[in-house]
Amino acid sequence: MVKCPKDGTDVQKPTKEWSVKPKSRKGPTLNVKLYACPTCGHKWRVATKVA
Ligand SMILES: [Zn+2]
Repeated sequence: MVKCPKDGTDVQKPTKEWSVKPKSRKGPTLNVKLYACPTCGHKWRVATKVA
């Protein structure tokens, strides 16, 4: 669960989720989650490294 950076509303599930593989062999695979705040409509992405 994450909080909206604008107003602190708890958002439980990401609107969209996908993984990004590095273009080169270097670098970790990223798991990107797109969140949308139900209160203010702000959308933002959170990227986490996948080991
Ligand atoms: Zn918000």
